[in-house]
Amino acid sequence: MLNTHDLLNVAGKIAVVTGGASGIGLATAELLASFGAYAILLDINEAQGESAVAGIKQQGGQASFYRCDVSSSADCQRVAADIDAAHGRIDILFNNAGIIRRKTVVELEERDWDLVIDVSLKGVYLLSKYIVPIMERQGGGSIINSGSGWGLKGGDRAAAYCAAKAGVVNLTRAMAIDHGAANIRVNCVSPGDTDTPLLRDEAKQLQRNEAEFLVASAGGRPLERLGTPRDIANAVLFLASDMSSWVTGSVLVVDGGGIA
Ligand code: NAD
Repeated sequence: MLNTHDLLNVAGKIAVVTGGASGIGLATAELLASFGAYAILLDINEAQGESAVAGIKQQGGQASFYRCDVSSSADCQRVAADIDAAHGRIDILFNNAGIIRRKTVVELEERDWDLVIDVSLKGVYLLSKYIVPIMERQGGGSIINSGSGWGLKGGDRAAAYCAAKAGVVNLTRAMAIDHGAANIRVNCVSPGDTDTPLLRDEAKQLQRNEAEFLVASAGGRPLERLGTPRDIANAVLFLASDMSSWVTGSVLVVDGGGIA
């Protein structure tokens, strides 16, 4: 009889999660660790990152935290080298860190545009640039990039974010084509509205009542609720695991049916 651990085969794997201190990244790091992976959380929020690691360890998991701004080439290069030195491999990379500014092109200051693109799109390129060679050397790996429903269909007052996430979708396909021969799978998870600090902050940015904003965000989809961070983490676990061994270059939409 097969058991879940054997099917997933993530136990003992080294898994890097960017934006691991909060929301979807944190839920994914916790889930991977609960199946025996060593979770390495990267984030700019050190206090939250360290406390997330302590929480995972308390549950019996293995984890560590590195401060890394994914929009910084120097940070990405240093952290990839440090993890390689400490663990000798990186099996799973979840490029999850992202930020949103709820503004139209007219409202966006150039620095907002640059910040959203630098974190949400360039960050995927930068960390992958330094981690793909490690995966090539060891004979393979699984990379999951965080897209968004708005990277597929657009959305209101989030021009830079929609552009960044559409870029992540096609960057995923390009990476899957370039690195498939090295046995590196690259996929994109595309969450719908998920109850995290990022979503709640959107209410603030739009000067909307938070409770009303969350109810409105949950509506208009067949499964009439917001996603939970765990809903998205489950999909990432599938893409990270051997269960998706012949899946690459794909976009897995996890949104309660919100595409309609
Ligand atoms: P979150 O705000 O809860 O967590 C994001 C984490 O990223 C935070 O810990 C933050 O400190 C970190 N971060 C921000 N800038 C960083 C940087 N430069 N370098 C490293 N870390 C950085 O957000 P979340 O909702 O969990 O979002 C995770 C991903 O999911 C994002 O890419 C987001 O765009 C995407 N997403 C979220 C939703 C949603 O509704 N929550 C929907 C679609 C896509």
